[in-house]
Formats: sequence, C-alpha cells, structure tokens
Amino acid sequence: MSIPKRLFACLTIWALALATTPPANATAYDARPKLVIILVLDQFRADYLERYRTDFKGRGFRLFLDHGANFPDCYFGYANTETAPGHSTIATGAYTDGHGIGSNEWWDLTRSKDHPVTSVEDERYELIGLPAGTKSIPGSSPRNLLASTVGDELRLNTLGVSQVYGISLKDRAAILPAGATANGAFWIDQASGRFITSTYYMPQLPSWAQSFDDGPRITQALQEANASGNTTGFYSVVGATPAAVSYELDFAKALITNAELGKHATTDLLTLSISSTDILGHKVGPDSDQQRQMIDAVDVDLDGFFTWLDKNVEGGLGNVWIALTADHGIAPIPAVAAKLGLNATTIDLKKLVGNLNFAINQKFSPGEKIDYMLQQQSLPYLALNQPAFERAGINEQEAEQAVQDFIPRAFASLIPPDESKGPATAKLPPTPGLFRSYTRQQMAQGQLPNTQFGELIEHSYTPNGGWYVMVIPQAFDIAASGAATNHFTPYSYDRHVPLALYGAPFAPGTYHGRVEPVDIAATFASLLGLNQPSASIGRILTQALKPASEVIYPKGTPARSHTVHKRATSESHP
Ligand SMILES: [Zn+2]
Repeated sequence: MSIPKRLFACLTIWALALATTPPANATAYDARPKLVIILVLDQFRADYLERYRTDFKGRGFRLFLDHGANFPDCYFGYANTETAPGHSTIATGAYTDGHGIGSNEWWDLTRSKDHPVTSVEDERYELIGLPAGTKSIPGSSPRNLLASTVGDELRLNTLGVSQVYGISLKDRAAILPAGATANGAFWIDQASGRFITSTYYMPQLPSWAQSFDDGPRITQALQEANASGNTTGFYSVVGATPAAVSYELDFAKALITNAELGKHATTDLLTLSISSTDILGHKVGPDSDQQRQMIDAVDVDLDGFFTWLDKNVEGGLGNVWIALTADHGIAPIPAVAAKLGLNATTIDLKKLVGNLNFAINQKFSPGEKIDYMLQQQSLPYLALNQPAFERAGINEQEAEQAVQDFIPRAFASLIPPDESKGPATAKLPPTPGLFRSYTRQQMAQGQLPNTQFGELIEHSYTPNGGWYVMVIPQAFDIAASGAATNHFTPYSYDRHVPLALYGAPFAPGTYHGRVEPVDIAATFASLLGLNQPSASIGRILTQALKPASEVIYPKGTPARSHTVHKRATSESHP
C-alpha cells in the first residue's frame, strides 16, 4: 500500500508537531535542556569502553556509544593526573595553572604543621550530617579553586535561578566540580557511609538527606557488599564494590527529586562522580576480572539511572544532556606490565626521600640529620621543608636546584647492585628510573621545553604546596603507598579518559582525533549561552553539533519566559 507523497509529508509534519515544539533557541535561559549532568567515573580509562563494549546492555554506556557523540581520543593536557585536579579541570575547562588545584593534598605550613591539608578541607566550616558522637573535624569548601566552573557561570548568568549540586563518595569529587556558587555538595562520611555536607553550603542537612541517612539504605548496601555489621569501613569495604554505585545513584535520585532539579525556569546542573571504580581499581588494577565486573555493574546501574531520569525529568531524557568522562586513567600493575617485557616497577618513595635527605645534609649540614624534605610525600610534587632550608640560610632557588641535582642519584640508589656476571640470558628485572624533573621556580617562570611535553608541565603548575620539585619517573614506574597501582603521571595511560556527550544538540557518532576534558565545560558553556568559565581554555566540540534547526526538545518544554528577569529584579531590590 502506498501513501501519496504529499499526504505522507503532511502526516510527517503533523506527527512532528505533536511530538515536539519547533526548534528554538536552546539555552539555559529557556531551560533547554532542563537538566545537565556531568558524569565522572573515577579512574575510568577510556579504553574500557571499547575493551568491554560487547558486555554492555541496555541504555547504560550504550546511551553514549549508540546514541551519543563519542570521542575515543580524549587526553588530559597536563601531567598531574589525580582526582582533585581532574574534577576541577573537567568543570572549569582549565588546567592546574588556571584553577590552582595541583593534587589531592599538599603541605601548607601556615595552616597545619602536622598534616598535609586536603584540597577541600576548610577549618572555617564544620561538617554536618556525621553520626552522633563523632568528633568534630574540619569542614570543607572549594576555597582553593581559583577558577569558576560551568555551574558557577550558570548560577551567575541566571542570578541564582539555576540550581547546581555535586555528589560523590569523595569530598573533593563532590565539591570541586560543582564550584563556589553551588547550592550544595554531598559526599560520605568514610566510616559510616552517611551522606554529609559542610556548613559552607547550608546550616544543616536537608530533611530528605537526613531521612536517606536514617533509612534502610546503608544497611542494604552493607548487606549487598557482604559487610553487614561493619560500622567503620564503609568507604574502603563497600566503596570497592558495585553496592556503592547503586547506593550513590539512589542518593542522586533523592537529590534530584527533593531539590526539584529539572523543574526550574532555567537549566539545572548536577555533577555526579562515581568513586567505586577508583577505590577498587587501586587494589586490583585495570586488567583484573574484578574491575571488569565493576564496569559491567556500573553499566547496569547507569541503565537504571537513565531510565529513572527518563521517567522523572519533565519531557524525559530528551530534556537532559549528559557528559561522560573520568578524572584520570591508571597505570597497569607493574608486575602485569613487566611480565610482558616493560621496564615497570614500584618506586620506594620513602627510601627515595631518605636518600635525598642524606645527600642534602651532606651538602649543607654535614654530619647532621635535618629533614630537608617534608614527611608524607606523594608524587608528582616532592615537597621541600622550607623552614629547614631557611634556617640553613638557603633560598628557594638554591634549595630546589640542590634537590633537583640529587634526584637522579636518589633514583639510582634504589636499584639493587647487579651481581650477575656476563650478558643477561633473560629479560632483566625492572629497575626504577627518573625521566625528568622541574623545580617550582622553573615551572612558575615557564623555563620549560617548547614542546608538547613542556606544555603538559606548564599546565601542572600550582601555587600551592610551598617549595617543590615535580618528579616524572620513567613510564610504567609507579609510587603507590600500599596500593597495587596508581595515577599521577603525564603518560597516556593516566591521561586517557572517555569524552562522550548525550543530548539534543549532539550528533551521534564516533569522532576520532584528539580532544581534551577541558572541552566539556567549554562546549556546555557555549551551547547554554553562558560566559566561558573564568580560566577556560577548552575548545567547542563543533564537529559533534547538529545544525540548530535539527535540535529539537520534547513538547511541553516552556518557551522563554521573563521569570529570570523578574526574579532577579525582585531579589536585587527587595
Ligand atoms: Zn585514584
């Protein structure tokens, strides 16, 4: 049976008119989309998407692979691939030299002499929602974030009508991507698993969050993780299992419902960071069956979450944009890489720092045992004990230069003496080695090679952490402080993360070619009609954008109203 062509055309137009509103400006001011989600999977290397593609079912990862714009060649453009800087980068569209966050924690002797301060700890505030009887610990805030996030720009441009929230199991991964103007950020108390926040955001936990914490959900997660009765290790025990992924997503649903995200006159934004892939990944490495099972479980949970969004956001998933990415990748477990012939091993960081202290004492204070290097070190930034150097009359330039000069020798002394005679008859055991090092002053002054590698280092400059020397070991060498593997280097395995965009403006397909996580904030800011975040250097991913005439939102999405303007006026002139 054939339908005359013209009648068919009429029917098509009629059907389209029923299903959709005509294309119009799609910006934050029109609440098109209703909700933006920046979904960060902690320590999720981009190659997993292809490696386990045949495992994926439903609308979890397949939402992006089959119906989204997928960029398989996304690499961070800096060298300090850790959680706090990664989340900051994704949301600000800037690297560490723009947003200031260099690592998860650093020494700040003006604030604490007994422990490195974390990227978000803030003694001026208090944590709220902790179990009764918990000793008060410092609160948290984005105090160290020097740049605005895309969420901040949304809040600024709508004068606070748009709502912005962050969720993660980790404080830094909830706080930093949401930004300074966020309405709230929630993460868990590591012992009990209760979702908490800081007085930076609100004086007390909202009643819905209190009910979530007091309800059956924690007990259920403990049961699912075979950890019933464990009252002190939720983060490390449950956190390393898929039970924590669905636990976290259930909290996200409660937030979306109770904060009415997607129901405001302008676009709302949620940053959602799934931590379990990282907590498990450090223990078992990227190549283990357990991590594959975790990824498959995340796939199932995302399917459920996206299906829930489809039913619970006005107009369904067609009114939501979702960016999928990760804060960093991960190195293979050294033994796994070494078995295949790579010179991969673990660096004994304590010994390395001890060797440095010994050599510096010999140079500046022979016969003494001064701690010229601070305790509790982690790579890539080795922290110098500024007061100790100053007491010896040594300035920053001289101190950092001395440490840098001694680093190759300190690495060499980690290698056991070779007692073999004659040429080797099998692959030699792996030995740790230094690739490059840069002093804080060299980085601050841009005394770096004019190469792509030099640019990675330039983007890793942080004003935090006092005097330091940035250390880049050989590829596949890790420093892990008890973990099986780690991430902190400029090597591809640490910088390679997913970048996939789902939503009305994005033309589905696979887009080969280098892109960077900073492009997410830049692209979202552009499409939402906002200013770029204050330090953004991202590019707009124009190759994946549909022509404006083809960007269609579900019927019922309100056209632009004057709500924003009215509210702003009444708020500024009470
Ligand atoms: Zn990690």
